[in-house]
Amino acid sequence: MAVKVAQEWFAICGGCEVTILDVGEPLLDLLPELEFVHMPVIMDNKIFGQTGEKSKAELPEAEVGIITGGIRNEENRFLAEEMRSKVNFLIAMGSCAAYGGIPALANQFSTEDVYKRVYQGNSTTDPGPTPNEGLPALLDRVYAVDEVVKVDLNLPGCPTTPDMFVAAVMHLLKGTPFALENKSVCDHCPTIREKKAGAGMSLKRPLEPVEGVGEELSKVRCFMEQGFLCQGPATRAGCGDGGTPRCIDAYMPCRGCFGPLSHTANPMVDMMGALSTIGLNPRDIPDRAAQFNRFAGSGRLRPKRSRR
Ligand code: SF4
Ligand code: SF4
Ligand code: SF4
Repeated sequence: MAVKVAQEWFAICGGCEVTILDVGEPLLDLLPELEFVHMPVIMDNKIFGQTGEKSKAELPEAEVGIITGGIRNEENRFLAEEMRSKVNFLIAMGSCAAYGGIPALANQFSTEDVYKRVYQGNSTTDPGPTPNEGLPALLDRVYAVDEVVKVDLNLPGCPTTPDMFVAAVMHLLKGTPFALENKSVCDHCPTIREKKAGAGMSLKRPLEPVEGVGEELSKVRCFMEQGFLCQGPATRAGCGDGGTPRCIDAYMPCRGCFGPLSHTANPMVDMMGALSTIGLNPRDIPDRAAQFNRFAGSGRLRPKRSRR
């Protein structure tokens, strides 16, 4: 009998749903094993009933639940709790769900500041009152899903790779545990490391191309040693599905989208150490907390001061 799957999306861009749809041929093997009973991006299953007849939102029962996106408002929180109560195994898919992701950059500001910035302080919009009728209230910050309900598996990445998603689901169907890699992006990077940046070098703008584009990566100098901010040292491996990490393969420095090496790691401290060790000055980066926690701000970024 097919395994029932329910999926919901919260504070997201929709890219993680595209990952599911982007699985390609393995999806043909998977689909007979799975029965999606709720997935807003591809099916019409309304949480208040098909004609809006229910007074309370409800999700269907399922063996597996998948949540994409962090928890930003009261509705997200309610549905996360509702899903947890209806499924046996809950997956937080993508760095938004696992760590807050890009939306959690807003955690540097109070909710009041966010409202003011959007509805009153935006130079391209006429100031107006903050809308509140019929809308779920924002929480005080963006939460990772496992800060609100128990999560059985976090699948990081912005987005998660289709191969990682398939591997995790296959393990689940076979009843075997799926483990994330405990290595860093650097551990899978084939570039040459000399453990020092060029003499007198300072950090370069990311829009400049790295040296050696098009050459075999094993003959190209580490991008960070070339002066580019590459977050490979503080980022969990997995995006290359065992091979060269995705961005490195495209001659782009790692932006850190697979999140920190562990839930308790501090990417800012790790990256400042990595940059200093090779002779680059991390203080050249103006907004270090946001930069190094770009995909993992749920418990790491806090409002510093009132900003408009
Ligand atoms: S993790 Fe990235 S791709 Fe996935 S929903 Fe969030 S922003 Fe989009
Ligand atoms: S810092 Fe970046 S380019 Fe250098 S080894 Fe690590 S992942 Fe590769
Ligand atoms: S190289 Fe870094 S930013 Fe690029 S996909 Fe991998 S983890 Fe994400």
